Amino acid sequence: MTREEFDEFFKNNEGNFIIGIHNYCDRWCERCKFTAKCSVFQIDEERARKRAEKGIPDNDFAEIVSENFQIVMDMMEDIMEDTEFEEEAIDLEAIQTEEEVLENYAKNHPISKNSEIYLKKVRLWFDQNERLLKRYKETFENTYNLGINDTQIIRDYENTYEAVEVINWFHAQIHVKLIRALRHGDVDLSYEDPIQNDANGSAKVALIGIEKSMDAWGILHKHFPEIEDHIIDILVLLETIRKDILKEFPNVNQFLRPGFDV
Ligand code: SF4
Repeated sequence: MTREEFDEFFKNNEGNFIIGIHNYCDRWCERCKFTAKCSVFQIDEERARKRAEKGIPDNDFAEIVSENFQIVMDMMEDIMEDTEFEEEAIDLEAIQTEEEVLENYAKNHPISKNSEIYLKKVRLWFDQNERLLKRYKETFENTYNLGINDTQIIRDYENTYEAVEVINWFHAQIHVKLIRALRHGDVDLSYEDPIQNDANGSAKVALIGIEKSMDAWGILHKHFPEIEDHIIDILVLLETIRKDILKEFPNVNQFLRPGFDV
């Protein structure tokens, strides 16, 4: 897709999208009811369509990266042309130092330390319980193939499968979003809203991911009593992170995600 096509796409779709919806979603596009209102989703579809027209395979990453790069460079050029810089020199060193301080603060904060532990625990849990999940799936399939299609058994299986998907989807995202929220630093009220700011928005996405994951672990806990201790240990960790988010970002639940909450 060229820069001209990119601009034309947005011009033709003016007013069709919810501004900023993609900034505070969970990126689970397959399940999102706002795909038609999301510019990120729609531009990706449009670009895939353009590539198909030109016969460029969808896995031609070199072409995709070069296309992205060219569009960004063109945009930067436009911005530079339109912007009048003040004579005053920008202190890049001070900006870099400030960024590093925030990065370190975020990485070493107890909330992100715990979300990283959670991420690792989930990966370990999947490694250690791969056989258990496989056995559960086989048992269900055998029962089903025998003609025992009891509604409760089917529902339990679907719920378990869904719980695994949810845990898998959110386990890394929670950590990434919390790092983003924490590295925001103090909210500057001279230009930021005390509630509708990126720190609260990112923390809210993480919080929702935690709450959904806790429900999902609760389902697994019911189905796999043989690994109860391991699951309880994970649930306790998630609850600790949840409570710490509410303390660190007391306005988090008041943040309204574009599209999802308003
Ligand atoms: S808003 Fe929906 S469609 Fe857009 S990026 Fe987020 S999940 Fe995907």
